Amino acid sequence: MSQASYKYCPSCQTKLTDQSLGGLIRKACPLESCGFVYWGNPTPVVAGIVERAGQVILVQSHGWPKDWYGLVTGFLEMDEKPENAIVREVQEEIGIKANVTSYLGAYPFNQMGQIIFAFHLTGEAGKITLCDEELTSYKEVAIEKLRPWERGTGPAVKEWLASRSLYPPNIERTSTSVIEAENN
Ligand SMILES: [Zn+2]
Repeated sequence: MSQASYKYCPSCQTKLTDQSLGGLIRKACPLESCGFVYWGNPTPVVAGIVERAGQVILVQSHGWPKDWYGLVTGFLEMDEKPENAIVREVQEEIGIKANVTSYLGAYPFNQMGQIIFAFHLTGEAGKITLCDEELTSYKEVAIEKLRPWERGTGPAVKEWLASRSLYPPNIERTSTSVIEAENN
């Protein structure tokens, strides 16, 4: 949930107001007896560039335009390390085993109120089986043909390609009505 979607106090249902707290304007409950503050701390998300046989596996979530693909992503379970979460998500979403080879970095995704921890993984051989509840399709793209996108996991892809001396232009994604769906 992004910060903009909170209108009422989840504790007492009073309309939230903008207040300056800790150096930023935040949504907060005006009732002193309540004191709820929506701090807007980002939700951690993991993402994986899954490589095998010189290709990267991209997936499409329900509701995305037909030409949109992204990295395998997911939320952490309680007490789960990010590097374990991405291995689990790859197994759940595309049905193959993968091993983390490197941690790529953390990428804020403010539109979704998230911070994305991105990893590079090596995928094992085997048939890809999609999790139907989350995904509609996948494709395997040769690394030299992979192009990043502007938001979400795109910057992680861009930096990973740059680390391999590849600097392709971003894919233009113009359908802004679904831009917030850039996550699953
Ligand atoms: Zn309140």
